[in-house]
Amino acid sequence: SFRALLTDRDAEGKVTSAVEVLDDARLPEGNVTVDIDWAGLNYKDGLCLTGGGGLVRTYPHVGGIDFAGTVRDSDDIRYKAGDMVVLTGWRVGETHWGGYSERARVNADWLVPLPQGLTTRDAMIVGTAGLTAMLAIDRLEAAGLNPEAGEVLVTGAAGGVGTIATSMLAKLGYQVAALSGRPQHAEALKTLGAAGVIDRAEFLAQPDKPLESARWAAVIDNVGGKVLGKVLKQVKYGGSVASIGNAGGIELSTNVLPFILRGISLFGIDSVMQPYSTRVAAWARISGTFDLGAYAGLVREVGLEELPEAAREILAGEVKGRVLAKVG
Ligand code: NAP
Repeated sequence: SFRALLTDRDAEGKVTSAVEVLDDARLPEGNVTVDIDWAGLNYKDGLCLTGGGGLVRTYPHVGGIDFAGTVRDSDDIRYKAGDMVVLTGWRVGETHWGGYSERARVNADWLVPLPQGLTTRDAMIVGTAGLTAMLAIDRLEAAGLNPEAGEVLVTGAAGGVGTIATSMLAKLGYQVAALSGRPQHAEALKTLGAAGVIDRAEFLAQPDKPLESARWAAVIDNVGGKVLGKVLKQVKYGGSVASIGNAGGIELSTNVLPFILRGISLFGIDSVMQPYSTRVAAWARISGTFDLGAYAGLVREVGLEELPEAAREILAGEVKGRVLAKVG
């Protein structure tokens, strides 16, 4: 048997979670069973734990889109008992039971070996947030970005993706501007390597024009909505924007002038369905790039019991950096 945070929906549709002891027979289908050490908390986990976004269709459910731990048993030739593994994405924690559990059973195709140089705790500090930040940097660089091209803007900067993106970009030699709605975290963002911090309210209060002063060589956007619409008008000639998130809304209102007069590009970044080889390459680059020591002050540990409250906080935009669930 094992402990898990079980999320359920009552007859009125109210979604709540509580820690329960479950029998192994309740584990879902899969060919690898993992004893979990650590899981992460992402914006999407906030949605899954509160019934938001219609992501979870079948209850009771175990959330947690990221986890890291040790293989307990495996029917797949690629993994054996004792191997350390990481899982992010593949809709685990949404349509398949996830990481808020001492034990998980998953498809071997969804796992990657724990990257060299990282502990399972380190891997969950990174989690989906850091993997996605790395995928965005890779995509922008493939489109020609380099440190000489100019300043890179990160929006939603004080959150999980934003802080890790800021830290890794600075480490790679980029000049980073951080856009945040929480001025109280400006010093922490500067310590991570941001050269400047822009207040979101002031940024949005500036008058909208079809084309605005060109400032950014590239942008990593975690917010969507009005912020993304405005940011596109400020991208320098030939620059590009990586759209990662929708913490500020899913709509996008803009115009074509930045595209046809400045030749800018807008790339969508998805971390969920990336193939194995892309994941392994991204994790290897993270392991060599992300300064975990410098990030230590932005990590908060919680137990399984505390996750529902942390879920509320992440949806309210109140989480600073990364929240880790200590599971094992
Ligand atoms: P997070 O820690 O909550 O970070 C989101 C940040 O966005 C917040 O810290 C806040 O930053 C800002 N924000 C929150 N509410 C806002 C609002 N109403 N208007 C404007 N800004 C707001 O979440 P995360 O886990 O880093 O994820 C960030 C986003 O990326 C989410 O939308 C998530 O779903 C998405 N995501 C997508 C992928 C993918 O594969 N495409 C992977 C991971 C995450 P400030 O307080 O600093 O402004």
